[in-house]
Amino acid sequence: MDIRKEIQSLKKKLNAVILAHNYQSYEVQSIADFVGDSLELSLESRKTDAEIIVFAGVKFMAEQAKVLNPNKKVLIPTPSAVCSLANMVTVKMLEEYRRRYPDAPLVVYVNSPIEVKASADYIVTSASAVSVISKLDSDTILFAPDANLAHYVAEVTKKKIVPIPPTGHCYVHLLITPYDILEAKKKYPNGVVIVHPEVPSESQKLADYVGGTSGMVRFVAKTDAKVFLVGTETGMLNRLRRDFPDKEFYPIVSKADCIGMKKITLESIYLSLKNMVYEVSVREEYAKRVREALERTFKLLGV
Ligand code: SF4
Repeated sequence: MDIRKEIQSLKKKLNAVILAHNYQSYEVQSIADFVGDSLELSLESRKTDAEIIVFAGVKFMAEQAKVLNPNKKVLIPTPSAVCSLANMVTVKMLEEYRRRYPDAPLVVYVNSPIEVKASADYIVTSASAVSVISKLDSDTILFAPDANLAHYVAEVTKKKIVPIPPTGHCYVHLLITPYDILEAKKKYPNGVVIVHPEVPSESQKLADYVGGTSGMVRFVAKTDAKVFLVGTETGMLNRLRRDFPDKEFYPIVSKADCIGMKKITLESIYLSLKNMVYEVSVREEYAKRVREALERTFKLLGV
């Protein structure tokens, strides 16, 4: 059986679309109709005419697509594809910080559980966090759950960003240490260092560019350099190498793999379409509040 052909024919027959995150494997990205970061995938899910969305990403992303498309069927090929960062924050934590900072808006990173997003004033991605927070009329912002991204936003916007919890982190990005960056630079002295804002703040200081995955794509496109050292999940190298075949990309840490993201495979996508599994559902009380926070955020961003 040619699994790629089977996926294409099921997609056509069922009027389905495959949306894949930048961190997916080369095989998964190459079968997808659209590859992007969380914000781009959310926007794409709103645009598509397909009746079924197969989401090649982690659970919180598929839930977000369902929130934005309540009348479409959203499938996640592997239900255990989860983000460990998302599970570091709870509604109880948010309530405690809201009591301590009653006037501060609560900005929640998209990498969080649905009930946490439902408590947010604004929902951001790593690509939109700086723009949204700089537009808010407050100098103190509550931010959950990634403390490194919070630190990055504080540096850029010069606002007081209170991270909830204080040590929220992504284990994949934590692997990218200053030592690894210096070692990579020894090997490729002309390499331009691009890192994700979830890497430790000491690593961010050594980078030529800090930004989310869509920001990385834009930065590479406008930079004349030919060699880039990439500090994020390794799937991103598939995207960069495909988009810029005349440039060279090397991972700063070659083992920076996200277990959750890599649970999505061609086989699981094929079975998902064949058996119509696993359908994503979101409680309406949460969906309504998340939609409101997302619309508020999109309005602020003008998208
Ligand atoms: S790379 Fe980190 S933040 Fe991204 S999905 Fe995986 S665990 Fe979550």
